[in-house]
Amino acid sequence: MASNNKVSLIAPCGMNCSICMAYLRNKNKCPGCRGIDINKPVTRIRCKIKNCVTFKNDKVEYCYSCGKFPCQNLKHLDKRYRLKYHMSMIENLENIKNLGIRKFVSSEKTRWACSCGGTICVHKGCCNNCGKRSL
Ligand SMILES: [Zn+2]
Repeated sequence: MASNNKVSLIAPCGMNCSICMAYLRNKNKCPGCRGIDINKPVTRIRCKIKNCVTFKNDKVEYCYSCGKFPCQNLKHLDKRYRLKYHMSMIENLENIKNLGIRKFVSSEKTRWACSCGGTICVHKGCCNNCGKRSL
């Protein structure tokens, strides 16, 4: 079963890669936004946030510590996810900032856990193991 409690699976934008469709699939599994560019959907490779110069220069680890936070790219992504998937990157980032990354990761683990032990996929809105729909 996919491990969903890794700090390295939280992308700079606040996305939790462990609940992503591309990460949860069995074939050509994506290593997560912070992983190497193998098996990644092209939208992830071209991601404006991941390719943002501040990350490339290792100046900031998460968007909230950037001087431009929240920038247009992030706002755009956040809006899309709020409307389509009922999840907010900006809210995640605020939680990471306030709780710390480890507490955030463990709260995420609870948030997206299915009673069967599987993980709820944010994109599909159902468990990747048993298929049960989340509310
Ligand atoms: Zn399940």
